[in-house]
Amino acid sequence: MTLQIDFERFKSNFNELAMIGKKADGGIYRMAFNADELVAREWLEDQLQQYGLKTRRDEALNIIGRYETEANKDLPAVVIGSHIDTVPNAGALDGALGVLVGLECLICLKEQGIETKYPLEVIAFSDEEGRFGGMFGSRAFAGQLNPRIIEESVDLNGVHLSEVLRSLGVDPFQALSASRPKKDIYSYLELHIEQGPVLDVENLSVGIVSDITGLFKWQVQLVGAANHAGTTPMDMRKDAFMGLADFAHEIPRIIDENGGEASRITIGNVALYPGSANTVPGQVDFSIDARDVSLEVMNELKDACRKALSAIARRRQLRFEFVETSMIYPVACDEAMQKHLVNNAKKLALNYKIMPSGAAHDAQMVAKIAPIAMIFVPSKNGVSHSPHEWTDWHHLHTGANLMLNTLIDIAQIP
Ligand SMILES: [Zn+2]
Repeated sequence: MTLQIDFERFKSNFNELAMIGKKADGGIYRMAFNADELVAREWLEDQLQQYGLKTRRDEALNIIGRYETEANKDLPAVVIGSHIDTVPNAGALDGALGVLVGLECLICLKEQGIETKYPLEVIAFSDEEGRFGGMFGSRAFAGQLNPRIIEESVDLNGVHLSEVLRSLGVDPFQALSASRPKKDIYSYLELHIEQGPVLDVENLSVGIVSDITGLFKWQVQLVGAANHAGTTPMDMRKDAFMGLADFAHEIPRIIDENGGEASRITIGNVALYPGSANTVPGQVDFSIDARDVSLEVMNELKDACRKALSAIARRRQLRFEFVETSMIYPVACDEAMQKHLVNNAKKLALNYKIMPSGAAHDAQMVAKIAPIAMIFVPSKNGVSHSPHEWTDWHHLHTGANLMLNTLIDIAQIP
């Protein structure tokens, strides 16, 4: 037997939430804790209450809806989560979809009186998208927060996270108590848009995630000598930009020799000094964002980048320095949970693919305290973080049904 979500209700909830924070340019602006995001939070809490789900905000202002029974209320919970905050000028799906699917699954089970062995929770995590740095809520939930992060988190306008939390009536350092012990969480599921083109191009309706990529970020500086563009002969230059250009050309080789299929290296931000057209650039500062699903491969990529940069620096007579500004470890999805997803995908006759996630998700944080699994639905043309982000309704329907049926398998009918 397979269960079905109430697609009309899901669609109408989806459309209601998509209107909150939508501006004249068609984009959604629900950055964490701004006025529109606070409205969206209230909307979600209203929905949870309306359907009789126990609702609360934890100390990190994560919104939690819970469906429990007398028999299961002391057992660890099966959690479905994602986020309802957005990047500026966002589409309607990233994050919101996962929360709405979780909401719909809990409503469906409650409505039909289906009681599972383990209690169920749907969670909207605070600031996944990073107004204040990213994954604040899931970090707190998984016990990965520390006072320094709370103190130092600032948005692009210089507003401190701690100020914002205080203005909302909560003590910022209380966020540390949002951490849930391992024995509280049985497992964690998240449905998300793929945010890449693979499922769309291959015409598949769902992806079952095998691993979530790890990521390291470097801020690199190459220093040579600024000099006159006319009087400095080509062979007497210490041109920092040429060093960057050499490194950029090495990237495909580094991936071929030291990376794998899931490896990515991107130089996304470059500043050239002094930045005048008639001066040989004496300094370049640039970012490296590198990802893979294996820690071993990530370490090999680090070694290869370091070696390539030092060789180039030597050859071009530049000084080379870098700082690692971020290191997020890759995470593997739970095999037993993946198996449940595959079985249900087969039962529902879906075209699916097992694939890695190249983007980071709240699931990555939650993996510190519980086994996790993720479902992807296709992103039209691979677009996300844009008002053009879209997934066909029938794929949304399919993904939500896969979640509902898998949820019952994992939370078990006693
Ligand atoms: Zn997201």
